[in-house]
Amino acid sequence: MTGTQRLSFGSTTMLFSPTREAALQRLHDFVPRAGRAYANSRNYDDGPPDSEARQNVSQLSPWLHAGIISETEVLDAVLAQHGPHAAEKFVAEVFWRIYFKGYLEQRPSIWPAYCEQRDKALGQLDANSGLKTAYDQAVGGSTGIEAFDHWARELVQTGYLHNHARMWFASIWIFTLKLDWTLGADFFLRHLMDADAASNTLSWRWVGGLHTKGKTYLARPDNIARYTANQPSGPLSADGLAHEAPALEEAADHQKQALDLPQSDAADLHGADYALILHDEGACHMAMNLPHPPKLVLGMTRPEARSPLPVGETARNFARSAVETGVDQAGDAFGCKAKLLGEGEGLQQSLGQAGLQTVAFSYLPTGWTRDALLPELMGLPDAVNIVPLLSEVEHATWPYAKAGFFGVKKKIESILGEVGIDGSSLDAAE
Ligand SMILES: Cc1cc2nc3c(=O)[nH]c(=O)nc-3n(C[C@H](O)[C@H](O)[C@H](O)COP(=O)(O)OP(=O)(O)OC[C@H]3O[C@@H](n4cnc5c(N)ncnc54)[C@H](O)[C@@H]3O)c2cc1C
Repeated sequence: MTGTQRLSFGSTTMLFSPTREAALQRLHDFVPRAGRAYANSRNYDDGPPDSEARQNVSQLSPWLHAGIISETEVLDAVLAQHGPHAAEKFVAEVFWRIYFKGYLEQRPSIWPAYCEQRDKALGQLDANSGLKTAYDQAVGGSTGIEAFDHWARELVQTGYLHNHARMWFASIWIFTLKLDWTLGADFFLRHLMDADAASNTLSWRWVGGLHTKGKTYLARPDNIARYTANQPSGPLSADGLAHEAPALEEAADHQKQALDLPQSDAADLHGADYALILHDEGACHMAMNLPHPPKLVLGMTRPEARSPLPVGETARNFARSAVETGVDQAGDAFGCKAKLLGEGEGLQQSLGQAGLQTVAFSYLPTGWTRDALLPELMGLPDAVNIVPLLSEVEHATWPYAKAGFFGVKKKIESILGEVGIDGSSLDAAE
């Protein structure tokens, strides 16, 4: 059976509705499975995201990325039901997300270096027809490697891939197809609903041996067959894979920079009247810890900034709708004016009309959302007070995200205690 014949991915529009209600429902449904069941079964890629079969992972990443639900809420709900020991694996995975963000904050040159290499690699496709054909086959799911083609199409059609599939896919892209890793990372960013500059870029670098220097990930057919055994059409085959994964090399040395963090949460607001900006990585006020209601809500969604190439419809719609819905809900909740602002569209004017001198927004981590919005924020007059709001758990974790994940892992228990995540606030799960 060919990869094409196997494919019947349903629409994920209903499954991944970009609303707070859908996120809470997903969390509620998943919490009972977040303990030992998760630890034992999380590596199985059991089927497309719309299938009932895929119950072994939370699929919460699109909502977490958009800031519709927070890491704190997810951790709290899971710990309330399972306790730290049984939920250890799931908790650690959530901390991988926080770790990657903190790591990229401290080595921010990785992001522009990625963008530069991607643009160069895209230019090479125009100049080299053989390379262009290989690239088109990879992103079109027609390489002839059944498993790889399956995931390429699943990603484009659904906007989601299982973690293990992402690892195998990236490994085959780099070591078997020998395509530039940044083009694969770009393909993911254009189509993943959870596309995240830190988790994606650093995971691709991890597979290629650039994150943990010299340590690579080799996809093996027997491993793929084992962990895809429960797919609706049986295990996926992957013939002709590379037998070796020699580490990629790079000339740049991405030096660690000191973190320059804002105070956690909303301490800097000092009771000021402010406009709340909702964006693609902070789209919902209910997942934020606002000290008092804003006087104005502005939505600034820029999913196209992920790549110079077109962004997939599923991912784009998820991001846009998340901010649109967030703006409507915040306007209703706070009884204030709420509107969307297109690129370069009257931020200063909107603040002036409302008589506001302060803007607050969920912290913009290194990546394309920051690249797209920072120039507009920096263009505001000096008198405007710009207040990024960083969650307590990120504030407490990022200082440990200096090198490998182990530096964070050994601190998880104390961080949870420090920021008061102990399963005692059950609102999110109920
Ligand atoms: C090559 C590659 C690219 C990736 N790109 C992204 C990306 O753009 N955005 C993204 O959010 N994740 C990315 N990941 C990490 C991981 O694959 C996804 O977070 C996970 O598959 C999301 O599914 P889930 O919500 O069911 O995860 P679960 O297993 O239910 O985990 C719960 C949450 O923990 C976090 N998490 C879990 N595993 C990881 C991990 N390995 N690294 C970082 N965070 C993790 C996610 O926020 C996830 O929602 C990538 C991994 C690889 C190997």
